[in-house]
Amino acid sequence: MTKSFRIRNNYSLYEAINHAKFYQLKLEIVVVEPYEENPRNIEFFEQNTIDLVDNLKLFSDSVKYVKRNDKLYDLLAGFNSIFVDKAYLRFDINQYEQIKQKCLTNNINLFTVESNVFVPVSVASDKEEYSARTIRNKINSKLNEYRISVLDNMPTTIGEKEALRILDNFIENKLDNYHLHNDPSLNYTSLLSAYLKYGFISPVTIFDRLAKVNTENKDAFLEELIVRRELAYNFVYFNPTYDQFQYMTYDWAYKSMNQHLKDKREYIYSKEDYINFNTHDPYFNAAMIEMVYTGRMHSYMRMYWCKKIIEWSRSYEEAYDIAIELNNYYFIDGFTPNGYCGVAWCFGKHDRAWTERPIFGKLRYMNDNGLKRKFNIEDYVVKMNEIRKGE
Ligand SMILES: Cc1cc2nc3c(=O)[nH]c(=O)nc-3n(C[C@H](O)[C@H](O)[C@H](O)COP(=O)(O)OP(=O)(O)OC[C@H]3O[C@@H](n4cnc5c(N)ncnc54)[C@H](O)[C@@H]3O)c2cc1C
Repeated sequence: MTKSFRIRNNYSLYEAINHAKFYQLKLEIVVVEPYEENPRNIEFFEQNTIDLVDNLKLFSDSVKYVKRNDKLYDLLAGFNSIFVDKAYLRFDINQYEQIKQKCLTNNINLFTVESNVFVPVSVASDKEEYSARTIRNKINSKLNEYRISVLDNMPTTIGEKEALRILDNFIENKLDNYHLHNDPSLNYTSLLSAYLKYGFISPVTIFDRLAKVNTENKDAFLEELIVRRELAYNFVYFNPTYDQFQYMTYDWAYKSMNQHLKDKREYIYSKEDYINFNTHDPYFNAAMIEMVYTGRMHSYMRMYWCKKIIEWSRSYEEAYDIAIELNNYYFIDGFTPNGYCGVAWCFGKHDRAWTERPIFGKLRYMNDNGLKRKFNIEDYVVKMNEIRKGE
């Protein structure tokens, strides 16, 4: 268990249980703690998996919890077959490759199962998709086929219980206002991203819960949960250089950035300026407070935040590196395909070329006037400053 830390709608676990039963093999479950740089993320993970090992004992009397290190590979030597969650990001793929190597040298069957997405990435599409528009029907047309419930009469673990509580609260109190979810001064998004990241809940479970609800906003939410999220998985799966500045976006974007590399930057800030809330922009500083203090950031502010880093860095590559580093360190939902895709989007990925302007070239531009015009953004600043005062 490397990516989906739950029981219900856990397809890897389900396949492993069935395989063991069919071939009369002993089932052993190994829970592998995910790699994280920020202790807050480890704490979040541990809090939500306190009862996981005990619950897994329903299926096997041999359940092990291991840190992500070499001992894992020694553990695998005696197996007949191994079922492992599919890996998408470089770090996970490296771990998978080592498991594969172990299997090859020890004659072990290896099965990879996708539990983190609704429609398996290579089934949804056979290529890197250009945008949400090009992948939408490919995914939506397969939802019925992949809406499969497994182990759904089994217990929910703490992580899933918490995700379901947040989901129910979202459905009851926020979904009717989801058309306003872009407004950072309101709080109408689901806050489920960290639970999805660790696979505490399956998108299929969320979909089933929503099927019982009748509101126009449901489709807008499913667009984010399934189409946008799985477009991000498509991006990292078909583009092995998804995390390298030189290869993560489109030719038109690189061409345009090259033409504007020497444009005068009015402000230049460092990573330290950002994490110390030391820019001239109160909205950006407020977004950084949200990031550093809570491990989250409102979805609209994530776009603004990354666009400003582009505007205030000496080069586009430096901006990319800073954005990825902050994203992966501070966000509890960081280190995901969504994070790499969200940052790449700010550099033109899955977007179109816009009217030429300084520094941004043809990349979409965002400024504080937009925030002031569309939202009661001062409210957001007040809320974030209160969070900071409360430490
Ligand atoms: C610069 C930038 C960085 C980002 N970094 C991350 C990240 O590290 N981790 C992360 O999970 N998301 C990231 N996103 C995408 C999005 O902002 C977050 O998923 C969202 O804010 C999470 O809040 P929520 O769960 O309340 O969202 P909701 O609006 O409730 O959406 C439900 C779910 O849909 C998915 N989703 C929503 N928006 C997007 C999107 N634009 N792309 C892909 N999936 C989406 C998420 O899994 C989310 O939990 C980033 C976006 C940008 C522009």
